[in-house]
Amino acid sequence: MAAGTWRRAFVAFVAFAIAACETATPPAAPSMAPTGSSSPSLTKPPGQTASAETPTPGRTAGFESPQPSGPPPAPDSDPTSADLIEAALAAGTIDAPTALLYRVYSTFSDLRLPEEYRTPVSAGDDWAMFQAQTTIDTLPPEIAAELRPFLARPTARESVFHGAAATSYLPLADPFAPQLVLPALGNPYGPGNFVCDVGSWGHIEGGTTLAGGPAWKVWGVCNDTASINDVVKAAGYMELLYGAEVALMGPPKPDTGGGVDEAGDGALDVYLISSCVSRAGRCMGTEFRTDRGILAYAQVTAPCDSDAAARCSSFIVIPRATIVSPLGASTVAHELFHTLEFNHNAYGLFASGDGNWFMEASSVWSEHYFYPAGRPAAVHPRFSGFQSGPFGLSDTAGLNEYDSYVWPLFMEQLGGKAKIAAAWQKIEGQAGNEAIDAAIDGTMVPPA
Ligand SMILES: [Zn+2]
Repeated sequence: MAAGTWRRAFVAFVAFAIAACETATPPAAPSMAPTGSSSPSLTKPPGQTASAETPTPGRTAGFESPQPSGPPPAPDSDPTSADLIEAALAAGTIDAPTALLYRVYSTFSDLRLPEEYRTPVSAGDDWAMFQAQTTIDTLPPEIAAELRPFLARPTARESVFHGAAATSYLPLADPFAPQLVLPALGNPYGPGNFVCDVGSWGHIEGGTTLAGGPAWKVWGVCNDTASINDVVKAAGYMELLYGAEVALMGPPKPDTGGGVDEAGDGALDVYLISSCVSRAGRCMGTEFRTDRGILAYAQVTAPCDSDAAARCSSFIVIPRATIVSPLGASTVAHELFHTLEFNHNAYGLFASGDGNWFMEASSVWSEHYFYPAGRPAAVHPRFSGFQSGPFGLSDTAGLNEYDSYVWPLFMEQLGGKAKIAAAWQKIEGQAGNEAIDAAIDGTMVPPA
């Protein structure tokens, strides 16, 4: 299978790619008039290459520094780790379960990935996490045992991110000068709101569900002042963003229901992890860091509805280095939006074997809409990606689906933010890209 097919995100990574050119001014209105009737142009624009695998000149595709300074990254012309692993699978060098394990290793740049599959070029093989999650019970026991720690909640003892060590930013040559910009209204939370409760982990909670419990919890390790301070920052962002996003999209699906991988209290869980946790004497996920393109992810988990377009609960994992970076609040906005998307549709987004483009496009749009202060660093560079990219809106080659935030931006200009929420309501119950794209089309009725 072509590598591009594997690359989309169920575990929906924010793989921010910063183009060489950055602007501090808002992007112009996308000039993409719907073709034909009132349907959005989801087909390839004129001049586009036929191959979705063709690297996009001048664009980055993960593994690039989100730092807005420095030399422009090299074009993504070398094979990714996923490419190399898939080639080995095709050649019969490794079997399918091993290939999946290697792709998960690659996702986290785990040191157990054999040398020959390592490459500085990766776009985040996030589809591997979805495949691992959905096939875990059918895999050979030794492969499944290696994969489960990547799928578990960070507070779970078996998680790759669990551990009292919580070695702050151990190998991370902090790519950012910590320059947190909290919202002007201030952060209502402080270290005094942090409660130690699960093993070595604790949390700050906020919001209120209809059932009366906390709407969200931000988790971090106890007995680590720096980590607790980062939890305070993340809680401030959740306070700022949760109510506004939920007012538009509805709440996330509560994690109640009794599954094995649920916190169970109905609150949306946000886990702050250190980029390296020493576990059994080895450093796990050492390259899971912000200068490798992966900033955070939202992971779907039980409970899910049982249909093909199942709506699911989910949780969020964010490295602490992301939270203290200039992209911290934008990243919270993005991942939070994914959890709200997944309460409209989760499995249906991947029924075509590849995550639907609108999932990432909408989440990038949410950064733009809900955290305007983050646009210069987090969103505007994507507009030049859209302008220079050869791909159609719905193409998920490279990081094209992130750049396709221009379409929901256009929807917003056409009918307000409610257009995006309406699209997600129409996506409910739809499985596969064709049905989902048709549902999005259905929201694009001409303005009255
Ligand atoms: Zn995303």
